[in-house]
Amino acid sequence: MSLADMSHEGTWMIEFNTPYSFHVRGIKRVLYSGVTKYQRVAIVEFEDLGKALILDGKTQSSLYDEFVYHESLVHPAMITHPNPRRVLILGGGEGATAREVLRYRSVEEVVMVDIDDEVIRLAKEYLPEMHQGSFDDPRLKLIIDDGRKYLERSNDKFDVVILDLTDPLEGGPSYLLYTVEFYSIVRKRLNEGGLMVTQATSTTYSARTFATIYRTVASVFPVTRAYQVYMHSFDSTWGFVIGSLGPDPASLTPEEVNDRTSSRVKGELRFYDGEVHRALFTLPKHIRRVLEDPSIIPATDQRPTFLPA
Ligand code: SAM
Repeated sequence: MSLADMSHEGTWMIEFNTPYSFHVRGIKRVLYSGVTKYQRVAIVEFEDLGKALILDGKTQSSLYDEFVYHESLVHPAMITHPNPRRVLILGGGEGATAREVLRYRSVEEVVMVDIDDEVIRLAKEYLPEMHQGSFDDPRLKLIIDDGRKYLERSNDKFDVVILDLTDPLEGGPSYLLYTVEFYSIVRKRLNEGGLMVTQATSTTYSARTFATIYRTVASVFPVTRAYQVYMHSFDSTWGFVIGSLGPDPASLTPEEVNDRTSSRVKGELRFYDGEVHRALFTLPKHIRRVLEDPSIIPATDQRPTFLPA
């Protein structure tokens, strides 16, 4: 086969990683393309990643490895908490974060707050492989609202808060959910010993934003841990940050993670287990250096962090 034969004929999607680099993916078909009140939305089927959700030109998840992202986002915090019963998800439009939380036998209620009802409608229609019926689970309460406004108004308390938001883009709907003021509100809404976790952008293309999110969470929570996983869909390692009022995810042994997983979680996970838990929190030296860089300071409402950075 020649190189020319390997080239996909048809539509390509260009996705910028930074202002100076992008990746390009062959699209098999476009299932939906439109603009909501908050963002541009496309649901496409990529030739090699399968169906994917794209918001404001950025791939949010694809069938190829959404389980890697969603299991990495949800399970480290949920397994670290001794007995998570009430969980709040902000964002998470695909319904896959809720799917992972609802696997826990201990979970009595999941409140999911996404700003964009149109994204939810489209996910329900086009991405059943991702939500797998989570929107119909009687334990799920779906609220359409800005996550920060919801938390500012409510007195509800949670054991675990999961922030599955779009990246902090200037002019986008989520950048005020990456600030000291916002994490302070989250902290107040946690029960004793509670944890929050946020996706924290690419550790390859935006390591300084990742570190800013880490420093911002660390200025509010007594225990803060950062971790990463490789995501083929994002062509990058992806960062997450946990803020905890007590339990420390880094102190769990692989055996403890495996025991807790088998007694608490319904069904078989595809990615996460005790060994993976330890690997996630083992950051390479150059990333640890960025986290410690003294020139990186917490983001505030007055001085938010934006991509690209
Ligand atoms: N996996 C993702 C990533 O890598 O960026 C995040 C996925 S999830 C689809 C992001 C969701 O956050 C979207 O459904 C979007 O509508 C929601 N969202 C953005 N800003 C929000 C806000 N202020 N409050 C609640 N939801 C928000």
